[in-house]
Amino acid sequence: MPELPEVETVRRGLNQLTLNREITGGDVLLNRTIAYPFSVGEFIYGIKGSSIAAWHRRGKYLLAELTPSPATCWLGVHLRMTGQLLWLHQDEPLHKHTRVRLFFGDQQELRFVDQRTFGQMWWVPPGVAVESIITGLGKLALDPFSPEFTVDYLAAKLQNRRRPIKTALLDQSVVAGLGNIYADEALFKSAVLPETLCTNLQLKQIERLRSAIIQVLETSIEAGGTTFSNFLNVKGINGNYGGVALVYNRTGEPCRVCGELIQRIKLAGRSSHFCPQCQTPTGN
Ligand SMILES: [Zn+2]
Repeated sequence: MPELPEVETVRRGLNQLTLNREITGGDVLLNRTIAYPFSVGEFIYGIKGSSIAAWHRRGKYLLAELTPSPATCWLGVHLRMTGQLLWLHQDEPLHKHTRVRLFFGDQQELRFVDQRTFGQMWWVPPGVAVESIITGLGKLALDPFSPEFTVDYLAAKLQNRRRPIKTALLDQSVVAGLGNIYADEALFKSAVLPETLCTNLQLKQIERLRSAIIQVLETSIEAGGTTFSNFLNVKGINGNYGGVALVYNRTGEPCRVCGELIQRIKLAGRSSHFCPQCQTPTGN
């Protein structure tokens, strides 16, 4: 599943390839990919003739600022489980999981391919608040790269929560953009066991956790958002750097720090990978 670094990599790729280019039309192959407007015709009519001024990211949402059409409006994209945005020539054979095509000049297109079909797109008309259409944005916590994502902020979000820290980290209203891979990696780097209850975390552990979250995300973005997952960037290049993970998906393999075997437990239905030696309840 694309996490923050993958989505950020897609955003940067789109900013390199699609800016100031006019959307000349589109084709929707799966109607339910368009979450808003409810009429696909209205979606195409809304985006047609506008140009992409910039791609932004909030959590795992991609937001294209469209001008002028007649005033600024927005195109939102969420890749969910398997969504991919690919910048291709229109002659490229259609993949069977192609859901939406957005056409540009020079026979180029932005193609949305999504095997599991959970991905979504929205067109937000001019003068309408983005959060009123893409309601998930309103529930998002701060981005880990926001200057306001401080130790105090994270501590307040985790306060009085009697649930495991790992489960809390996957909650997009606690931290935006973190998923299973980077949550496991950040917990390892901060020496915190995944099942530690939020209420039992000490401030120094939260401090370490905050730094570790930012660090693992930055490292992955530098690697092109491809550190662990089977991920394609907008040019369709898979830069899978398998084997770089510290704990994720390494059950039974030796810890890269102490040699102890990595273990796996299930928390809220998700696998959590950890080192029983490096990670402790107190994080010492
Ligand atoms: Zn270890």
